[in-house]
Amino acid sequence: MKTIGLIGGMSWESSLEYYRILNELIKEKLGGLSSVQCLLYSVDFKPIEQWMHNNKWDEITSHLTIIAQKLEQAGADFIIICTNTMHKLVPQIQTHIQIPIYHIADAAASKIKELGLKKVGLLGTMFTMEEDFYKKRLLEKHHIEVLIPNQEERQEVDRIIFNELVLGKITDPSREFYKQIIVNLQKNGAEGIILGCTEIPLLIKPIDSLIPIFDTTQLHAEFAIEKVLEE
Ligand code: GLU
Repeated sequence: MKTIGLIGGMSWESSLEYYRILNELIKEKLGGLSSVQCLLYSVDFKPIEQWMHNNKWDEITSHLTIIAQKLEQAGADFIIICTNTMHKLVPQIQTHIQIPIYHIADAAASKIKELGLKKVGLLGTMFTMEEDFYKKRLLEKHHIEVLIPNQEERQEVDRIIFNELVLGKITDPSREFYKQIIVNLQKNGAEGIILGCTEIPLLIKPIDSLIPIFDTTQLHAEFAIEKVLEE
């Protein structure tokens, strides 16, 4: 079995989900006492969150690059970064290591294409919704068009992530708000919704949406397990 290198702690609420899902999937596939072979480097999210919001992305790139190198040296066969937002930095980090980083947007895309969908809504942090690194990859590499909420909605989607979900706070009003945003995206033509932040699946479940939802935590973990078991 291959060894997964996980870069987590952004936040630990979602890293826990990764660890649980990876182990459940391996048990489902291999049975018995099988469990996932992995190295988890979990960061202190506080300085990273401050760097993000002060636009100090170079600091984060250096920090995560050193971690990726440590995981490589420690024997990881590949890396998964347990947050959508930090995929902004994947091209730079990848140039400093030999082992692959498996991209979370590719994991989502593979399921979206399996269902034959062409246009999806994207919920995530401001960085993920507004910048190019995620939407452009979906469009150029996978031919999936991405819709995002309007500016006011985006601010609230982002506020709920950073003020509630990464702190483990799950509330009904926030769930209702997200459900409404999903309906609005559907009205604008979305055929499915990417939960493009690894904590959103703690709030939103398939039952909360009339159109398919793509849980990036689950799909990224599934993608990793396929790679773990590949010859
Ligand atoms: N885990 C979140 C994501 O998937 C947000 C926290 C972060 O910015 O890393 O984007």
